[in-house]
Amino acid sequence: MIKFNKGSTPKCLIAKTNGSNPNYKVWAKKWESQLKKSYPNKNWNWYAYKGKPVNTLLIDKLRNKTNDHCSFCDKYAPEADCDSIEHLLPKILFPLKSFSWTNLFLSCVGCQKRPKGWKNHESEIRSILKPDAKSYSFERYFYYDTKTGKIEVKKIGTSKRDQQRAELTIKYFQLNEFKRPASRMSFFKMFYDSTNFERIKNGLQIDELPYRFMFK
Ligand SMILES: [Zn+2]
Repeated sequence: MIKFNKGSTPKCLIAKTNGSNPNYKVWAKKWESQLKKSYPNKNWNWYAYKGKPVNTLLIDKLRNKTNDHCSFCDKYAPEADCDSIEHLLPKILFPLKSFSWTNLFLSCVGCQKRPKGWKNHESEIRSILKPDAKSYSFERYFYYDTKTGKIEVKKIGTSKRDQQRAELTIKYFQLNEFKRPASRMSFFKMFYDSTNFERIKNGLQIDELPYRFMFK
């Protein structure tokens, strides 16, 4: 999870298409009332702005903000049909946040799968780390273990609370599952200059690599 700046809310969300409330509020209210009618409702709808589905407008902006990386595992350039917009606070549980720019993230398929029993963490969902938070940095909460390929919780110089949040984030996005550590290690070998351990191979740009936290 690499820090990025979310920037200002896109026009399609803050425009007031119908009435005096911005679209993100109107659409979230509609979703909330749908949920009340038939829970669990399957008819999630991104709505459209100027004839274009809002998710297609947002996903381009989100891709731009993370340089085409998954916001959580930092996989590079998830294929267009394999990435989507993740509601960090799930839209079923937090309907009024369903169109809030601060709650929307570019995510790969893996990071959208919830671990079994994730609902046990429902009360803790708000403690999950956000890569666009001002106070966030990978180095503050995590370290990358080059021997195992795992992302580990930083325990030196961090508070208990920070450690809990980091642990929860790893669990929530299953950052060390799906053979992800092995995948990281193979990329690590591929892109590191083995003769100079401090350096990425010549000609490679860090923003075009997956798992950028490995190369810092
Ligand atoms: Zn991911």
